[in-house]
Amino acid sequence: MKAIAVEPGAGEPTVVERPLPEPSDGEALVRTLRVGVDGTDHEVIAGHHGEVPPGEDRLVLGHEAVGVVEDPNGTDLEEGEYVVPTVRRPPNGTNEYFERGEPDMAREGEYLERGIVGAHGFMAEYFTSPAETLVPIPERLAHLGFLVEPISVSEKAVEHAVASRSAFEWEPETALVLGNGSLGLLTLAMCETTLGFDRTYCLGRRDRPDPTIDIVEKLGATYVDSRETPVPEIPDAYESVDFVYEATGYAKHAFETIEALAPNGVGALLGVPESWSFEIDGGRLHREFVLQNKALVGSVNSHRGHFEAATDTLEGLPDWLFDDLVTGVYGLDEYERAFETGDDVVKTAVEFSSLE
Ligand code: NAP
Ligand code: BGC
Ligand code: ZN
Repeated sequence: MKAIAVEPGAGEPTVVERPLPEPSDGEALVRTLRVGVDGTDHEVIAGHHGEVPPGEDRLVLGHEAVGVVEDPNGTDLEEGEYVVPTVRRPPNGTNEYFERGEPDMAREGEYLERGIVGAHGFMAEYFTSPAETLVPIPERLAHLGFLVEPISVSEKAVEHAVASRSAFEWEPETALVLGNGSLGLLTLAMCETTLGFDRTYCLGRRDRPDPTIDIVEKLGATYVDSRETPVPEIPDAYESVDFVYEATGYAKHAFETIEALAPNGVGALLGVPESWSFEIDGGRLHREFVLQNKALVGSVNSHRGHFEAATDTLEGLPDWLFDDLVTGVYGLDEYERAFETGDDVVKTAVEFSSLE
């Protein structure tokens, strides 16, 4: 079968031939439909994040997949069922995080991530996976199923942020999303719909006309250009906000978030930056953080419950959003296009097998 693999830091992804996988006990065989591409894939391709499986020089990419069960192999799944796989797997057998159903909280060394950290991903015509890692989705969502994983990442981040404010009466009204990439825009859409914020903002660094700014404004949010209004100036230029979701990977934003937050607010940090030394007024930020009861939560990955919540969220998002957000779904014959970047590219996916 065909798969898309990369030698991280040494070139572009290529199509490779791999043996058809055979499901072990407890695993199902899945025919891959579509696999999304996100900022993490570009970081993996560049060799900035993740690792190849031990003893190999290439990694099969892809962690945002949707497929159809080809062979349930004695599991509770049914042939023809549409499923989305979770990302993390235990490195040796299992461990307490996986047994508790909280692989997203596993420590470094205690998890692999398919398509990212030490395990081949889903960008192949078929993949196998343990039944408990395959989350069923309704057939009507199958064409968009590759959006369930990124939305699940935000479900987790929001859950943890809200939990950090659960000891008092917190009634957030305003949200600021840092980043107009696919993760930022999907989360902005959640803020506007299921999360029900009254006023929302989204930070980017683009000139108009731009398709992401159009999405921001169509969602009813206010676009903030970081070149004109850096994050610490947002409270004066607009207002301080109850919730910040950082999805830029721009390391200064982790600290500047403290300044954008209203008293009692919380920021969720999602970006995965590289090492970068810069100066901050740590004393002032520390003081602000303490005296205004602010919180910051780092968040990575997601568990099965977040995938289930993400499926409901996906169903509640407006149809126009998918037309505007998904700028390309490419077959294996033109898979390179799914990895192109540019201001006209928002979210792309590779199609391994057609939905009909
Ligand atoms: P992406 O497509 O690269 O989006 C990042 C966006 O942030 C881009 O649109 C970029 O603008 C914008 N940006 C960067 N620096 C900025 C600045 N200084 N001011 C304003 N805008 C800025 O990536 P993504 O897929 O949406 O993911 C976002 C981040 O989250 C990445 O760091 C990724 O690694 C991380 N991530 C984390 C998790 C997790 O579990 N924690 C999951 C998924 C992704 P331009 O396009 O104009 O350059
Ligand atoms: C993936 C997560 C993963 C994270 C860190 C993200 O792009 O969506 O599942 O945990 O990268 O590798
Ligand atoms: Zn991702």
